[in-house]
Amino acid sequence: MLTKGNLIKLFTFIVCLAMTQASIGKDLYMSPTGSDTNNGSASSPVFTITKAQALAEPGDVVHIKAGHYKYDNSQITDSISPYAIAFHMKKSGTADKHIIYKGEIVDGERPVLDFFNLRPDGLRVAAFWVDGSYIEIHNIEVVRVQVTMTGHTQSECFRIVKGSNNLINNVSMHDGMAIGVYIVQGSNNLILNCDAYNNYDKVGENGTGGNVDGFGAHVQTESSVGNVFRGCRAWHNSDDGFDLINCKAPILIENCWSFFNGYAPASFNKKGDGSGFKCGGYGMRQKIRNPSVIPVHTIKNCIAYFNRNRGFYSNHHLGGLKFINNTAYYNPYNFPMPNRKSVEEPVDVNGYGHVFENNISYRPRVPRPLISEVDSALSTFKNNTFLSDGPDLTDKDFVGLEAYELTLDRKEDGSLPDIEFLKLKADSYWGKKKVGYQWK
Ligand code: CA
Ligand code: CA
Repeated sequence: MLTKGNLIKLFTFIVCLAMTQASIGKDLYMSPTGSDTNNGSASSPVFTITKAQALAEPGDVVHIKAGHYKYDNSQITDSISPYAIAFHMKKSGTADKHIIYKGEIVDGERPVLDFFNLRPDGLRVAAFWVDGSYIEIHNIEVVRVQVTMTGHTQSECFRIVKGSNNLINNVSMHDGMAIGVYIVQGSNNLILNCDAYNNYDKVGENGTGGNVDGFGAHVQTESSVGNVFRGCRAWHNSDDGFDLINCKAPILIENCWSFFNGYAPASFNKKGDGSGFKCGGYGMRQKIRNPSVIPVHTIKNCIAYFNRNRGFYSNHHLGGLKFINNTAYYNPYNFPMPNRKSVEEPVDVNGYGHVFENNISYRPRVPRPLISEVDSALSTFKNNTFLSDGPDLTDKDFVGLEAYELTLDRKEDGSLPDIEFLKLKADSYWGKKKVGYQWK
């Protein structure tokens, strides 16, 4: 019966439906067999992110269909010296209507965007150059990004140049010559559940591989705050796993695993610097930069294992860094903490101003102190397995020490696999004290 109450309910329902429709954008489609002369509908998919972006408006979702996308020089859309850019992400969403690019996962496989044949002469490569904001990219693999230059150079899978509030989620960047994600400027970008592995530039600088990190944040403005790496893994990158050497504003690295860095892929041939987490250094080259504020980066709930040189490394920072609930195992140096004395007097001194809470340093690969180059009177220590009165750790304190677990497949939602590696038995002395990465 059409009572007044029912009429109001019906009216409310229609209004709500209209509002829902208004807030949901259109669906666009990309396919390995698509064409950029198509209109992006399900039956007429496009081939490139460039074309999808041209068609997308805030609130829209670009569905990247499964399969292997093979890109070449004809996908270079822009050149900003010294970079050739494939996908210039310049169209922004809004705070409540992001533009979403989403890979379709079929049988656990994400779409693969392959840049092997994109080889411009005399230019670096940025597969994705991001200066838009409120953009989300989910569930893809970016593979085989190239370097063609022989001097000092680098390429990047994602270069975030000035965009803010972007999300890169469940993206894997591997088997290329490029850095995974490199942030130059912008705020509140979240790099979530991403992997960077088997990346080695064998062309530039005589194949030393000294610039290919898994992830880097090197923001050049103090206002570039709120950038976060969370749930990411870096392994077999020829330089470092994570690198903050030129980073002017604070970064959070959380729940990340870094191992086998500083070696060529699939081997243990020595290459670049080989730090799991290179956690600072901005302003140490006094003549180049003179920082007004020293950024305090935070490294939390992370694992550094079997990197070529160092686990968690302060890298001559000009001030203190925060290390909370991390686990370092079997790096030659697990926690080397040298600082620069000052901008005016750029000499190395034992680390000062650092904060260490609930960290594990277990068995450095060669007999060395559990923490090194630190001024224990000028840093803060609370509940760590080093510089403590507690018992030394032994293998028996751990649930597991099988490192292969670090490269297990991620869960369906992209989060890290459940592992036993380096987890403490809950009833052990240090387990009761909840040290290490596992208590997040
Ligand atoms: Ca290097
Ligand atoms: Ca590096």
